[in-house]
Amino acid sequence: MAEALNVSQALRNPGQLFPFEARVTLPGMEIFSDTVFLEDVRAEGEFLATDDGRISVKATARADARAHCSRCLEEVVTPVEAQVDALYSRVPDPDDPDLYGFEGYALDLTDAVRDALVLELPMRFLCKPDCKGLCPTCGANLNRVACTCQEGGNTTNPFSALKNIVLNHEEV
Ligand SMILES: [Zn+2]
Ligand SMILES: [Zn+2]
Repeated sequence: MAEALNVSQALRNPGQLFPFEARVTLPGMEIFSDTVFLEDVRAEGEFLATDDGRISVKATARADARAHCSRCLEEVVTPVEAQVDALYSRVPDPDDPDLYGFEGYALDLTDAVRDALVLELPMRFLCKPDCKGLCPTCGANLNRVACTCQEGGNTTNPFSALKNIVLNHEEV
């Protein structure tokens, strides 16, 4: 949910720009088998009414994305910024699936802000660029401890174990 923007003035004055700031609350989202939380979400920009009674919103949305490192599974918080360029209409248009809807004079930014921020999320979250990840054998976090599993073994990368499984499977 977001604080609704009151667009009654804009609808009476088509073409006039109205600056705004709004906070948006979004639920957690399942993305790439992790739950990503967008927190402290805020949007800042301006809106105007078009001559045909639609509302154009242009804004910068910012949030903190909280998820888990894809290698070591520790929690990661990454700032995200996105440009929102959304068109709202009271009347759905089957030819324009990108239109957002609104009723009366209250415009809810939630969907447009979420859609813009999701596109800017990283493909995968990392706690640091050189995260060492988890030991494929014992599961230890290799950023914090040096386990002895790999000494003398041939599991120097997490894929070699997987490769063995695949090879064994092919032999059967
Ligand atoms: Zn990590
Ligand atoms: Zn280990």
